Amino acid sequence: MPLMATITISKSNFYHNLNQIALKVGSKEKIAVVLKDNAYGHGLGIIAELASEYGILHAVVRNLAEAREIEGLFESILILGSREYEVNEKFNFAVNSLEEIPKIPRGCRVELKNDTGMHRNGIACEQIGEALELIEKHGLVLSGAFTHYRSADVLSSELFWQQKNFEKVKEKLRSSGFDHIRFHGCNSAAALRACRSDEAIVRAGIGIYGYNELPFPFDDTMLKPVLALYASRVATRVLRKGQRVGYGGDLTAPHDMTIATYDLGYGDGWCRGDSMRPYTTAEGLPILGRVSMDLISLESDKEQVCIMDDAKAAAKHFGTISYEMTTALSPFIKRIVVE
Ligand SMILES: *Cc1c(COP(=O)(O)O)cnc(C)c1O
Repeated sequence: MPLMATITISKSNFYHNLNQIALKVGSKEKIAVVLKDNAYGHGLGIIAELASEYGILHAVVRNLAEAREIEGLFESILILGSREYEVNEKFNFAVNSLEEIPKIPRGCRVELKNDTGMHRNGIACEQIGEALELIEKHGLVLSGAFTHYRSADVLSSELFWQQKNFEKVKEKLRSSGFDHIRFHGCNSAAALRACRSDEAIVRAGIGIYGYNELPFPFDDTMLKPVLALYASRVATRVLRKGQRVGYGGDLTAPHDMTIATYDLGYGDGWCRGDSMRPYTTAEGLPILGRVSMDLISLESDKEQVCIMDDAKAAAKHFGTISYEMTTALSPFIKRIVVE
């Protein structure tokens, strides 16, 4: 491993997760891998290549630049939030509002995002008829319709209420002549919990990266974290008892100790946190004092230390979610694939 902060991507864990999800949803052909935001921080190119090699046919990204980067690897790419468009057989642009439709060039493939209850973006159930008229008027090609669940990972029946709303929209679209288009609603949590086998694809994000965010009684599918974060040693020193380290001198050495700085900080997307409640690395070393922009201090002299190998555990410490821990990691950190 190079001597600098590095992210390893475990190919075997990634494929384990895809296997588990394929078993749930019926086949690998039904999995659309969600690769938005640099593949949740894992590295867009790397994850796309691995997924394609595994036999995944569909991907979901945030913008056109991401779609172009991985165009050659998939049969279809759904683009969730683009304001730039391109007529391309593989690209399907999500329609997030009625106002957006006249701005999309003729001939573009679009998928209706249907707001079934999350009330973020998407076309309301009552607006479907109007959306279809606008799509027709502006010469767009409707290739699918989908929805997103706000509480698929929560112990409640909200998921089923949204699914019911989506069923009505499907009916409406089918009876308007769109019976050949693809319909999809499930994210990872919904796919693990209550996958609808009649839907064309599931949009699997966090699950493919190794995190099952469902409360235990729902689903005990074991997924394995794909990403591990390493930092490498910059400088070592002996801290005498009573000497203090880092900005503010927040940590006072309780005894003589050998400490070293490592090349990771909040500038790399690592969480700064609270020095009074330090994070403990995957190897059991508490971060000493404050996290700097590019450095942390640890009581260690090793060339390389594993900072995090389970983003869910780290997220728990920082009061956030696994998604944020990995997505925040700078794209400038080197990523390498390991078996
Ligand atoms: C991000 C996203 C997903 C993936 O959700 P996970 O919880 O990571 O599986 C699916 N669908 C849409 C519309 C998304 O924005």
